Amino acid sequence: MSASVLVIGAGVSGLTTAVCLAESGMDVRVDTDRLPGETTSAAAGAMWDPYLAEPRHLVARWSRETLSVLTGLSTDADAGIRLVEGTQESRVPCELPVWGALVGARRCEPDELREGFVTGWHYSAPLVDMPRYLDYLVRRLARAGGSIRRHHYDTLEEATREAPVVVNCSGAGARSLAADDSVEAVRGQLVVVENPGIRTFFCDDTPGAEDLTYIYPHADVLVLGGTADRGNWELRPDEAAAQEIIRRCAAVEPSIAGARVIEQRVGLRPVRERVRLEQERRDSTSTGAGAGMATGAGSLLLHNYGHGGAGLTLSWGCAREIAERVRTAVGPTP
Ligand SMILES: Cc1cc2nc3c(=O)[nH]c(=O)nc-3n(C[C@H](O)[C@H](O)[C@H](O)COP(=O)(O)OP(=O)(O)OC[C@H]3O[C@@H](n4cnc5c(N)ncnc54)[C@H](O)[C@@H]3O)c2cc1C
Repeated sequence: MSASVLVIGAGVSGLTTAVCLAESGMDVRVDTDRLPGETTSAAAGAMWDPYLAEPRHLVARWSRETLSVLTGLSTDADAGIRLVEGTQESRVPCELPVWGALVGARRCEPDELREGFVTGWHYSAPLVDMPRYLDYLVRRLARAGGSIRRHHYDTLEEATREAPVVVNCSGAGARSLAADDSVEAVRGQLVVVENPGIRTFFCDDTPGAEDLTYIYPHADVLVLGGTADRGNWELRPDEAAAQEIIRRCAAVEPSIAGARVIEQRVGLRPVRERVRLEQERRDSTSTGAGAGMATGAGSLLLHNYGHGGAGLTLSWGCAREIAERVRTAVGPTP
């Protein structure tokens, strides 16, 4: 089976990109060495939560566009997305985040702040049950005619021999696949516990804090965060780290202390100084049936990786930009 557009990677970047391409009429296949439920994306918490990555003006636009799509999808019971209220708090005074107005953030009253916190912002934002959301994207891709195959690529040249257009959404895997040493894995671990009745999210946003502490309430479970270990590629959970996450979260919400642990999750944030959304031409001969697609000389190779701790937050903005670039390069689909 061959396709006109080959997407490498079945995390949130690859699946969202594949959906955008397939829904604009293209023949799309996703090739991936890990299926959606096995990816970093499935391990994420996950909230729409922009951070100041480069290129800043584009990151701001991609985040805004994604917020709009995720907010729209929160009314679809199948997507696993809810708008959840909560607070982001800091142990030192700090200003309203630049994106605060987009989510209606208001300064917390002193009696809303947890002990030890001096500033906080109250807002609502999309909270995503990632395993469920990835399943939703897989179904949406299938409805648009796209498919997924388990397959590992050692090089991008192998992929450009398969299809005239290739989109590289390989996350931290881009370090070897795209020979890009500027991508680093920042390992993150989360603990999922039974929800003792917490309905609002909490996030410690103290600038420079060594630990990431957050509590995300999904319907029956809480996702507790977290860790950030640069250069650590270990995918097995660490029991001591899990106990420390529970201790930190219980210090903020004491009812968490005795909550039953359901699972632990580990993922590798694909951190890079700049998100890589670029295109290039590779000299290679396409052998797939999709080779009839006119892309000019050589194969068109696009990159969409390096989203660090904000892959969900940037997903729709980046995917739409990739789809637009492909449409511009190949012209309208019949
Ligand atoms: C603990 C934790 C919490 C997080 N919380 C949030 C959050 O709240 N909000 C947010 O926006 N982001 C969050 N993130 C970040 C987010 O999870 C990532 O930015 C995002 O998952 C990256 O998605 P991706 O699709 O680019 O990569 P991945 O999900 O890693 O997917 C990469 C895909 O490429 C495939 N692949 C790689 N190399 C090859 C190869 N050589 N051949 C074939 N296939 C290959 C893999 O199999 C995989 O399918 C969190 C991350 C972690 C770890």
